[in-house]
Amino acid sequence: MVEASQQKRVVVVGGGWAGLGASYHLAKQGYDVTLLEAGPYPGGLVAGWKTPGGKSVEAGIHGFWYPYRNIFALINELDINPFTTWTRSAQYSPAGLEVESPIFQELPQLPAPLGTFLYTHFQRLPLIDRLSALPLLYSLIDFDNSDAAWRRYDSVTARELFKDFGVSARLYRDAFEPMLLVGLFAPGEQCSAAATLGMLYYFILAHQPNFDVVWCRGTVGEKIFRPWVEKIEKAGGKVLAKHRVTDVIVDDNNRATGVICGEQVFEADAVIFAVGITGMKKIISSSPSLQSRKEFQNLGNLGAIDVLATRLWFDRKIDIPHPSNACFGFDTTTGWTFFDLNALHDEYQDEPGTVIEADFYHANQFLNLSDAEIIPIVQNYLATCIPAFKQAKVIDSSVIRLPNAVTHFAPGSYQYMLPARTSFANVFMSGDWIINRHGSWSQEKAYVTGLEAANFVISYLGEGQPAEILPVQEDEVHIKIGRSLNETVRQISKSILPDFWLP
Ligand SMILES: Cc1cc2nc3c(=O)[nH]c(=O)nc-3n(C[C@H](O)[C@H](O)[C@H](O)COP(=O)(O)OP(=O)(O)OC[C@H]3O[C@@H](n4cnc5c(N)ncnc54)[C@H](O)[C@@H]3O)c2cc1C
Repeated sequence: MVEASQQKRVVVVGGGWAGLGASYHLAKQGYDVTLLEAGPYPGGLVAGWKTPGGKSVEAGIHGFWYPYRNIFALINELDINPFTTWTRSAQYSPAGLEVESPIFQELPQLPAPLGTFLYTHFQRLPLIDRLSALPLLYSLIDFDNSDAAWRRYDSVTARELFKDFGVSARLYRDAFEPMLLVGLFAPGEQCSAAATLGMLYYFILAHQPNFDVVWCRGTVGEKIFRPWVEKIEKAGGKVLAKHRVTDVIVDDNNRATGVICGEQVFEADAVIFAVGITGMKKIISSSPSLQSRKEFQNLGNLGAIDVLATRLWFDRKIDIPHPSNACFGFDTTTGWTFFDLNALHDEYQDEPGTVIEADFYHANQFLNLSDAEIIPIVQNYLATCIPAFKQAKVIDSSVIRLPNAVTHFAPGSYQYMLPARTSFANVFMSGDWIINRHGSWSQEKAYVTGLEAANFVISYLGEGQPAEILPVQEDEVHIKIGRSLNETVRQISKSILPDFWLP
């Protein structure tokens, strides 16, 4: 055991998946870790808490998809059992039920993405529209998550990508744009084509079971972060809520020596930022040392998206066919999801009434409405999907507004996003918007980047073992062959054609 006075000090800023991931690993490796979290609880966008009336609420419901290998490994290590079994989901439009998804891993495995196309049960979308997606397969082969691929596709919008590859208007409107609204939180004309291909490949297309999902049987805050923070503290780490960082102290050797947090200074041998884009921009606005660097100045070019999380308690039991549901076509540029919490959360299993979470992404137009205006809109939308909601009475509700909360993968944003290493020798970045080559998204990516940042600290400070990071599952053989052929053709054309056209 290293004596406290000899331990190297690491300050982690931000207590979401990324910050907790970095803190846990470094604390286990014997570092003196202090995690500073601005909010009243750790968890970041996934935090959960109780209302004054004692009811659990959270900043939106979070799914854990089949390829979240590192998070599932962490859950095993923590020896907790927070999840439901794999669930089926549905998709609604104002016309009613549109799509039902099976549990893909239970069906005979077909080469990707055949199973996804054949087993998904579309209620209305004609076959001819579905077939118009075929030419798009080329872009999936061409986009291999490399830096070059991101640069080729990032300045194109998702809408242009689908248009250029001949996707039908109906397939775009009824399938791809809804996926973007709930996957990247923005409509197609506002999403980078690179992010679109990366996200669709990871969550849906790479392997047949990838779209299978589990949910927490309560808030993620209660079921995962509480026991996790206990483990971090047991390993010697300090997790300090209500500590907002405003600046970094830098010495003449290009090293951070501490962070400033109100009146306090936390000395550090290394610093990890694990803060979302909006939080990072706020820190930069109060930090002369970060403002002096181009890479941090450039973060002013990045943006984030408004989200609204509502929870409604109804006076009666309503039969809801699937526990998780995605909806589109209600507001042109807003996607929303609703969840049957009686089916998902232990706490609500025996409620006499129905408890629904309804979350709205790219919810700009709703954010300034009062709760009294929002609740009837949500009830009306729910009743459009499942008519029994019309007669039910809302007996309690919670509305959580999350302005500029989630990463906006806007066209052209890749050039300004940061990798884990910064121009400071001992300052590292993590979070779901940080550039890495792992291939995961959302919570899994945030956690993986936290581990990657921890590994950079270990290699910089030279003590402890790096965290094992599980790679995403390998591409299937036909995808590998397609990618290798495509790369060969690309190299040959590069050698014979002039470098003349836009990439
Ligand atoms: C409604 C909603 C639904 C979602 N659904 C899913 C889903 O189903 N599946 C999925 O995988 N992902 C989902 N996501 C995305 C997921 O929540 C994020 O990808 C992930 O939580 C990001 O984690 P993070 O650690 O990068 O950042 P964050 O969770 O944003 O954590 C950053 C932390 O930094 C803190 N901070 C900010 N400024 C400072 C400062 N100056 N000093 C100290 N601390 C600071 C913040 O308070 C915050 O706690 C959803 C997000 C939302 C909002």
